[in-house]
Amino acid sequence: MKRNKCEECGGKIIRKKVPFKLYGVELGLFPADFCSKCNEEVYDESTLEKINKIAKQKGLWGLESRTKVGEVGNSLDIRIGRKIADFIGLRKGKEVLVHPENKKRIIIDIV
Ligand SMILES: [Zn+2]
Repeated sequence: MKRNKCEECGGKIIRKKVPFKLYGVELGLFPADFCSKCNEEVYDESTLEKINKIAKQKGLWGLESRTKVGEVGNSLDIRIGRKIADFIGLRKGKEVLVHPENKKRIIIDIV
């Protein structure tokens, strides 16, 4: 399945190697269908498998997890899984800055 036009914006698609980053970690350069207009990147199935394999080797797999909001006193409580905590070096007692990015996303900055 070869694309010449971007499905998002109708821009011209070029085949080139683009850097792939996951959670801020460079995984390498991978061939992609790249839109010269909107910068949309589309990888084929075998490339995605390769990217997933490298992500697993670098310990970046399973960092995303679902959690439920709890309640402690007057505050709400969101649990951060051990894998994410280890990845960013978060420990009990560390100070963080919590702020909304918009109505659907909260940012937690390690101070
Ligand atoms: Zn496009």
